[in-house]
Amino acid sequence: MSHHEPEFHYCPVCGGELNTVTLKQTEPPRLVCSRCRFVFYLDPKVVACAVVEVGGRIALLKRGIEPQKGRWVMPGGYVDRGEEVTAAAIRETREECGLDIRIQDLVGVYSYPGNTQVVVVYSAQSLAGNLVAGDETTDTGLFLPEEIPWDQLAFQSTIEALRDYYKKRSKPEP
Ligand SMILES: [Zn+2]
Repeated sequence: MSHHEPEFHYCPVCGGELNTVTLKQTEPPRLVCSRCRFVFYLDPKVVACAVVEVGGRIALLKRGIEPQKGRWVMPGGYVDRGEEVTAAAIRETREECGLDIRIQDLVGVYSYPGNTQVVVVYSAQSLAGNLVAGDETTDTGLFLPEEIPWDQLAFQSTIEALRDYYKKRSKPEP
């Protein structure tokens, strides 16, 4: 998920010009206001996703928007500021494909150097609702493990999360 980050030129507090300044040698350069000294920290963005099981199959959505338009992904989206991460996964799943889910376990947390997103993936059971394509989706599908379109998945995190999900699931219950 590599949306382009906009470049920031002006201080959101006072409108002064931002300069790139090294504040600490061990940290990346920061955007600092030349007028009020406000430090504009650019933080990672958190994405919450769910591997939703419906009768032994996994729900995947075909993306109708860039990036990775036409490729398959699990339901998910950005966590709002102040929102619980699991609540975001539940909300995004309902919005994107119409399923009400119950979160089960953490599948994994996926992040990559130079990528501003941190992707948190949960496993979930579908409680109610019918699988439908939301605004950003052109198609939906339910896939058995052997039907997963591995070479048509959208993101590295999608591939790794599904791999981890099946790895955990194949282990015997403790
Ligand atoms: Zn300022």
